[in-house]
Amino acid sequence: MYSLYLHIPFCKQKCRYCDFPSIAADSSLYEKYGQAVLQEIIQRHEELGPINIDTIYFGGGTPSLMPIKIISAIVNSIYTNFTINNNCEITLEANPGTVDMAYLLGLKKIGFNRLSFGIQAVQDNLLKTLGRIHSNHDADTTINNAQKAGFKNISVDLMYGLPDQTMSMLEESLNWAVNKAVQHISIYGLQLEENTPFYSMHESGHLLLPDEDSVEKMYDYINAFLPLNNFERYEISNFAKKGFESRHNTAYWQDKAYIGIGCAAHSYYQQKRLYNTHNVNNYIQQATNKHFTYQQEEILDKNNWIEEFCFLALRTTQGINKNKFQQTFNCDIYSLYKEVIHNFITKNLLIDTGNFIKLTPLGMKYGNIVFEGFLL
Ligand code: SF4
Repeated sequence: MYSLYLHIPFCKQKCRYCDFPSIAADSSLYEKYGQAVLQEIIQRHEELGPINIDTIYFGGGTPSLMPIKIISAIVNSIYTNFTINNNCEITLEANPGTVDMAYLLGLKKIGFNRLSFGIQAVQDNLLKTLGRIHSNHDADTTINNAQKAGFKNISVDLMYGLPDQTMSMLEESLNWAVNKAVQHISIYGLQLEENTPFYSMHESGHLLLPDEDSVEKMYDYINAFLPLNNFERYEISNFAKKGFESRHNTAYWQDKAYIGIGCAAHSYYQQKRLYNTHNVNNYIQQATNKHFTYQQEEILDKNNWIEEFCFLALRTTQGINKNKFQQTFNCDIYSLYKEVIHNFITKNLLIDTGNFIKLTPLGMKYGNIVFEGFLL
């Protein structure tokens, strides 16, 4: 069973904090890019056969910038070339202000059953500072329209630790999301990534960020507020109403196989990681040549695989399944990590529940310390 990720690398403009593989490109590229994706789907089918697909995820970038007829052609081709499970989760990432009612109805008709909207905050000034293209009014209208179009599984992304963001602004954003009656909330602390405008502004002293104490208070507030409002935390940054956990992302955390299609996408199966080119023009050129080559191929050795298996599972509130570890690696997790696990249990960062080893709430907060301990 595989998950399928499709990368759409276009955005209207780059947000100031973003280092994702996306470009603010001329819309004339969309059609060519769509054709290239169709070409790659055929090649992957020839290589892998009609593999079973359990989840499909259009991520970006801003997939909702692609004309609906291109999205439709891509989904049709996926159905033609692979075997799609009856209850396949099919998600599209979208940004407010890029989709109208007709587009949303089009997505529904094509078979999308989950939408993930990049909201980040609800204050227009803050959205402007972030370089977002939408206003809170756009966000409001878009979620209302998505619900009217019949979507019953909607996720929103929010952020904290943002420039000039106060606790009450964060509360306002969280309340907005809860009141919109969405099913899933992902919430990320701002990371200053090199080669972004925010990074340079910070380096030159022109970006005022909340201090560490305030960010920690925001983190604590989020983790208290969302469960009180029926959003259960199931991963470090992800909260869902019961039954609405993202199946696609859960597959990543459970070390399952996935195929990545599109520029900057990567695939993972049989302990191989296969990276497509990051360059859109190069990707389109490969389609013209009717042959896609991987920019990089990486074979995970056993130690790398064990480490990744542990890091990914520990991100989830379920934690590492001890039986699955034993079956996968043919050894008891304690034979490799006895001292590490005991040390973190003593520090109240890990807990052994019998079948699972998982982070405590404190461990979730300081996950990186624990992950380091799992390096072999
Ligand atoms: S919309 Fe998303 S992918 Fe595009 S620039 Fe902004 S954060 Fe990055």
